[in-house]
Amino acid sequence: MKKHNFSAGPCVLPQEVIAKASAAVTDLDNSGLSLIEISHRSHAFVEVMEKARSLALELLGLEGKGYTALFLQGGASLEFLMVAYNLLETKAGYLNTGTWSDKAIKEAKLFGEIVEVGSSKDKNFKYIPKGYAVPSGLDYLHVTSNNTIFGTQIKEFPKTDTPLVCDMSSDIFSRKLDFSQFGLIYAGAQKNMGPAGTTLIVVKNDILGKVSRKIPSMLDYQVHIDKESMFNTPAVFPVYVSMLTLEWLKNLGGIAAIEEINEKKAQLIYSEIDLNPVFEGFASKEDRSTMNATFTLTDEKLKGSFDAMCKEAGVVGINGHRSIGGYRASMYNALSLESVGVLVDIMSEMERKG
Ligand SMILES: *Cc1c(COP(=O)(O)O)cnc(C)c1O
Repeated sequence: MKKHNFSAGPCVLPQEVIAKASAAVTDLDNSGLSLIEISHRSHAFVEVMEKARSLALELLGLEGKGYTALFLQGGASLEFLMVAYNLLETKAGYLNTGTWSDKAIKEAKLFGEIVEVGSSKDKNFKYIPKGYAVPSGLDYLHVTSNNTIFGTQIKEFPKTDTPLVCDMSSDIFSRKLDFSQFGLIYAGAQKNMGPAGTTLIVVKNDILGKVSRKIPSMLDYQVHIDKESMFNTPAVFPVYVSMLTLEWLKNLGGIAAIEEINEKKAQLIYSEIDLNPVFEGFASKEDRSTMNATFTLTDEKLKGSFDAMCKEAGVVGINGHRSIGGYRASMYNALSLESVGVLVDIMSEMERKG
């Protein structure tokens, strides 16, 4: 039975990407060798890495603009400290919009003074703080574009001369943005690009080299840039699958095309949440994420029947994060409008049944 995979991460990938990746595990491009048994220095794999890196820059519109794309390991969680290691000399600003920002702040505090320029902790991260001042003298300002757990998303980024660092783990490649407003973007692959095991880092070259501390090689962005993302053995399979997903996205028409679909999906579910008295949205309306829709049942007694109907229809992965409960429908790029339709039909059926 077809499953409708609303998992928050690792998450749904395009079927054709899964098919190609499976074939490459058996035999990479008729080479008689598996993708996962060839040298990462082989011509075949070096080409994969180069293609993944250049597709990332191309899709973000950052080609020829002084940026480098890297595929490293350690997840977005390693970037929490790597960012600070490489960029934090004295003081950095952080916008606290949820669990992931909080974790990024905790790591950065090991390296210097952290100024929380704004926080929505007072309302359990239901909203995105706005109108906050960005003090001068910051080495960088860190924001989380999409708050996977709470279902909020930054629609407008702060205008500042301070280099902007963004954790885009759960909405990279999902919507059009002027990506050149960022000094550094990072994203764990497993939300909107590929399987777990690699992290995309897009860094503006000229923001590096400004801290006085010595940086261990594996944590030094410049080392990875100089070695073309091959300083050590990269995660060959996750990089390959990410490359296939980026290719899929390009063939679809790029970010502009997927943004239209993502907006339709978000509109479909949020209008149901707003019109249906059985459900209630969690995030403030103006800050709602197009990727992760968070909601609860207005009557907890209905949980059994809602869960059973979801199971029956093949809807999986909609349980909310343990820190907020309720439900979360994650609608990443590869999730079809049809799948959202299946969930919304169940929601309206819940209302009809009363
Ligand atoms: C999932 C997630 C992370 C953590 O990613 P890992 O790759 O597991 O380290 C960080 N930030 C955001 C916004 C996320 O959604």
